[in-house]
Amino acid sequence: MAEKLKIISLGGLNEVGKNITVLEYKNDILVIDCGIGFPDGEMYGVDVVIPNVAYLAKNRERICGIVLTHGHEDHIGSLPYVLTDINAPIFATDLTAGLVSLKLEEHKLLDIADINIIEPGKSFKIGCFTIEPIHVNHSIAGAVALAITTPLGIVLHTGDFKIDTTPIGCEMADLTRFGELGKKGVLCMLSDSTNAERKGFSPSERTVGHTFDSLFDRCKSRIIVTTFASNIYRIQQIIDVSARYGRKVAITGRSMENMIRVAAELGYLEIPKNILIELNQIKNFPKEQITIITTGSQGESMSALYRMAFSNHKQIEIIPGDRVIISASAVPGNEKTVSHIVNELFRKGAEVMYRGSMEDLHVSGHACQEELKVMLALVKPKYFIPVHGEQRHLIIHSELAKSVGIPHQNIVISDIGKVIEVGKKSININGVVPSGKVLVDGTGIGDVGSVVLRDRKHLAQDGMLVVVLSLSSEDGGIISGPDIITRGFVYVKEASDLIEEMRTLVTETIYACNANDITDWATLKTSIKTALSSYLYKTTRRSPMILPVIMEV
Ligand SMILES: [Zn+2]
Ligand SMILES: [Zn+2]
Repeated sequence: MAEKLKIISLGGLNEVGKNITVLEYKNDILVIDCGIGFPDGEMYGVDVVIPNVAYLAKNRERICGIVLTHGHEDHIGSLPYVLTDINAPIFATDLTAGLVSLKLEEHKLLDIADINIIEPGKSFKIGCFTIEPIHVNHSIAGAVALAITTPLGIVLHTGDFKIDTTPIGCEMADLTRFGELGKKGVLCMLSDSTNAERKGFSPSERTVGHTFDSLFDRCKSRIIVTTFASNIYRIQQIIDVSARYGRKVAITGRSMENMIRVAAELGYLEIPKNILIELNQIKNFPKEQITIITTGSQGESMSALYRMAFSNHKQIEIIPGDRVIISASAVPGNEKTVSHIVNELFRKGAEVMYRGSMEDLHVSGHACQEELKVMLALVKPKYFIPVHGEQRHLIIHSELAKSVGIPHQNIVISDIGKVIEVGKKSININGVVPSGKVLVDGTGIGDVGSVVLRDRKHLAQDGMLVVVLSLSSEDGGIISGPDIITRGFVYVKEASDLIEEMRTLVTETIYACNANDITDWATLKTSIKTALSSYLYKTTRRSPMILPVIMEV
């Protein structure tokens, strides 16, 4: 039987984030991207979510490289955690490599990493794969699609992309090259489904520039703008419009400072001379000559904008009349934190421009339906796998593919862990490998399992209650206690009756056990728990976590 090519997504399907795709032929494994996911509201105390890479760890000898499509967290964020397990060479364009280096340095892993710079149009070979990066437009510079020539044919992974006919600071996506590959014949395409629901074309990055212009024109106050730190094109436009209206630019927030430094060093940002000032120089200029670029577009509680809004920023205080522009959309799950900041800024007398209050403050970096169809039509893949999306995005994207003529049986909607086998004349799902979420809590990787999470959820919802008592080693009678300590359950000062009832109930339970000759502690504890929890549920409709502590004296 002819050898098949295997395509396995370990993340990024039916979920937002942690994009990672494995390509496998004979003994060679190629990894595309290595991103993080974000904890949902149910994951108390979890900082990041990384993909389960047990399959890669098991086959680490066979991995010939990790190729990155661009520098967004959902594509590079897991590297510091995964590299300790599978140390394969990394291939990335210069800006992506710069961001990866910063990240690895923070984790003190830069020394062990082997980072190689790649360029659009320049093919390179790893294992049996020849890879050609192709320039695409996206909300970060240095984004590429990957045309991977395998022994069975070309596999094209679009990465995250859009088609911007009037981009800022770069050219339009290299559609010519996609067309050429289509003519040559592409075996299989994996394409970004994020905006598959949206009709038409995504607006050009340039439209946001026009909005900035109208907001800067004749503005007499300070302007404070926040956006995603990684969106260098947006930052370029903020700097340009500031220069046009004679404003100096100050930058605050660590990720924003880092990003601007790396991008400027690599020539992705053009910063006019003498326009940047330090935060402590702001006071030397009149209000109408100041722009502040800040982190915090997602309402992050450690961000500079958050600190400004809540008067915690060391150097900048919001003054009435400040014009604050939030040039971003809230990532799903962040809507509340963003509106929290917006409210606080209003309270301080700022004039806040945000999505919802005005149009065209942000454009998406992902292709909408017409762009997705253009890509499908240019590449004309034999087989098609929609990726980077939840189920509805994948299904809608597959409908788009059918509408441009890809037969139903040549499209595979997969799920994480599923093994897609591609032959020259076939595509099907055959088998699964381990996949899923690994939760990172502080510095610990994977030490928070479902039991810990369930406890955190329980504690957060209903609080806890500790019952302390000492029993006589001779007759099992109560020597002291029971004392009841609660946290997050009831306000003790107003619940003394309830506490008293609970103490009586525990005492009765112990004596009932004694009367029945029950002396082992496990049973005593269970009896206390059962008695208390049914009582508490009846009286308060709540089920706090109950921890009996018994001492023997
Ligand atoms: Zn992206
Ligand atoms: Zn992405």
